[in-house]
Amino acid sequence: MPGGASGEEELKALLPASVAVRFDEMFPSIRARSVRRRDRQRAEMLRKAEPVLRRALGPLEVVRFVTNGARQFAWGLITAGSMNPFTNRTTFVLTDKRILLIHTDSKQRPRFFANQLPLERVRRVTGRHSYAFIRTGREQLMFHGVKRGEVKYLRGLLESTPAKEGGWQNLCPRCFAATDDTPSACERCGAKFKEPRKAALRSLLFPGLGDFYLGYHGYALLEILGAAFLWALFVTVLVPAVRARGFSGVLIALPVLVFVVLLHGSDAILTRAKARSGLHSIDGALPSGDIEQTPTIS
Ligand SMILES: [Zn+2]
Repeated sequence: MPGGASGEEELKALLPASVAVRFDEMFPSIRARSVRRRDRQRAEMLRKAEPVLRRALGPLEVVRFVTNGARQFAWGLITAGSMNPFTNRTTFVLTDKRILLIHTDSKQRPRFFANQLPLERVRRVTGRHSYAFIRTGREQLMFHGVKRGEVKYLRGLLESTPAKEGGWQNLCPRCFAATDDTPSACERCGAKFKEPRKAALRSLLFPGLGDFYLGYHGYALLEILGAAFLWALFVTVLVPAVRARGFSGVLIALPVLVFVVLLHGSDAILTRAKARSGLHSIDGALPSGDIEQTPTIS
């Protein structure tokens, strides 16, 4: 490398200064003079997560490893699995106390919420293809798009014992108080959160409205356009069929209607799951410490 800086020095310069990192665990394959692309990417992931880490981590808490991927939910796989990565991008930070999940955009910039799994709740970590499965006493986290070698490495870092109890926790995006539920307000700081039930009802009324309420405006717009297209399709099938055949023409358009109704229902379920996946602040408080600006959609 020109200038003679070692790989270690280069990576150390990339890491955020305000976060304590256990260097040998973070970069297990570091060699004297070369930095692997993936090592550099992980250092950048940490740097982008710094605003959240600075606020969320305890004073003595040390970061051991970081990777990223998309959280997958069982309902998401059935209803809109392929769309999920747009809204569930997550930076996965292993510390000496917990697994911290930071919801991000596609460029790994922190977004709406954060979750955690205290290490004493990790029951088992397994991996298949690009999936990591982290089982707790109560539920399993599916994590998609993780580098295969990193899943294997994580399994080595995390102890597995079948007896552990408890599941994932949501963190208040304002004060980082942990809760096992999705409350409507934070017990510690009083921050108010968007309610999964309200999100689900909006999506039932019209697909996309619940996502818009939660703050996923681009994704919501796609859903609204998709559902509007299907309703328009229903009308363009229905009207000529009824004109030609009278009431029995309704039967011809019925399959489209059934499909649209199913879409409303499944989007409501999906939106509820999305709302429950983290605490979405009503006043726009973000884990990074910023206040969310409501984007204008032209
Ligand atoms: Zn709080």
